[in-house]
Amino acid sequence: MQPFPSKRAPAFADIPDDKWSDWRWQLSHRLNSIEDFEQILTLTESEHQALCQVGLFRVDITPYFASLIDPENPLDPIRKQILPTAAEILPFTGEMEDSLSEDAHSPVPGLVHRYPDRVLMLVTTQCASYCRYCTRSRIVGDPTQSFSSKDFEAQLDYLRRTPQVRDVLLSGGDPLTLAPKVLERLLTALREIPHIEIIRIGSRVPVFMPQRVTDELCELLQRFHPLWLNIHVNHPNEITAELADACDKLTRAGIPLGNQSVLLAGVNDDPAIQRRLVHNLVRLRVRPYYLYQCDLVQGAGHFRTPIGKGIEIIESLLGHTSGFAVPTYVVDAPGGGGKIPLTPNYILSYSDQKVVLRNYEGFITTYYEPTEYQPIDPSLTAPFKGEILEPGQSGVAGLLAGDAMSLKPAGFDQVHQRGGEPHRLRDRTEKWVPRGIGDGKSADNEA
Ligand SMILES: *Cc1c(COP(=O)(O)O)cnc(C)c1O
Repeated sequence: MQPFPSKRAPAFADIPDDKWSDWRWQLSHRLNSIEDFEQILTLTESEHQALCQVGLFRVDITPYFASLIDPENPLDPIRKQILPTAAEILPFTGEMEDSLSEDAHSPVPGLVHRYPDRVLMLVTTQCASYCRYCTRSRIVGDPTQSFSSKDFEAQLDYLRRTPQVRDVLLSGGDPLTLAPKVLERLLTALREIPHIEIIRIGSRVPVFMPQRVTDELCELLQRFHPLWLNIHVNHPNEITAELADACDKLTRAGIPLGNQSVLLAGVNDDPAIQRRLVHNLVRLRVRPYYLYQCDLVQGAGHFRTPIGKGIEIIESLLGHTSGFAVPTYVVDAPGGGGKIPLTPNYILSYSDQKVVLRNYEGFITTYYEPTEYQPIDPSLTAPFKGEILEPGQSGVAGLLAGDAMSLKPAGFDQVHQRGGEPHRLRDRTEKWVPRGIGDGKSADNEA
């Protein structure tokens, strides 16, 4: 197997190895000025113009990550993710500061409670480097806007009195940039809340600064299992020997790793690039989790792709490669509806008796529905039989007891009404009419 590369820009050739592999050195030597960048590449007119702009979203790049850029290529996919261009300053239609309406879903500052059983907890505004398409550029990067211990206390307090929450996702900013003591205090406090089953961290630190994934950090994290971690890799060029080493340490600490990518025009909007990306990720034992449609965030309009591009990429992967290498393509609904999964359509028609399906090659098949079907009665079946749930607690028994409303996050009735009608389960007897059947290619095969 091809080994993963390790790179260092010539400008850093004289840095002693012990400094280069020290995350503190990487953090304190980040590149952010025109002079810094000109040491490693020739800035384009557009990049130069952006870097002169006042009020630009923060620029900061670790020497390690900047070294992955091909200095000769102004279209380099890593360069595009982290170096601003004039396109960032131009207004595009439909962009918003808080495109996911996260602030409107925050019961306390930094906590976003949009789904019934899990919350997003923003714990810092700092990152190791800054992505130009950042969804949270409204809060991220500003050191004066960080969260205080009083904010953490308010967030924890909300979680203590909200028993529906079984999954807490730490994000920001990047939680792995927190001082180890602060991170430890936070994780300890979360683990003391009995109804919190899993803790998740979303972090690009292993990608921007893999040196930060030390044995001590892994020892700290593994004390708080079950703890899951999602990294953020967009392009195969980000996968290096250093990242492989960091992922190896994390998986050995028992932390399941996932990857979240953002679909970005000019960076990874191509089936062959995505294929190489997911194949290299699974070699690191990182499971591709989500491929995000780029949000309608201010300054990121030039990164947006049509939805059809994402569906084309997923269609190029599903069936063509290992099932666990295929991420779920999601659109985070503008205005705050949450993530909506999108897949190619494999159902050609659907009636009471038969369902006509196509496979990844366009082969068409008919599945005959059972004539007799007796669904399970969960109340009569282990393990739920006899399960006792407190009022307000989620679970099948809670639903059966007519307690469905308890699955809603506390105090969110109004917010959840905004999208129109509340959720409704589809009636099994309701006829479902498929839309947008087929892809043209398979029409010939139809009997
Ligand atoms: C993405 C997200 C989550 C986690 O969603 P999963 O689909 O479970 O990964 C939770 N809360 C908010 C607000 C989110 O944006």
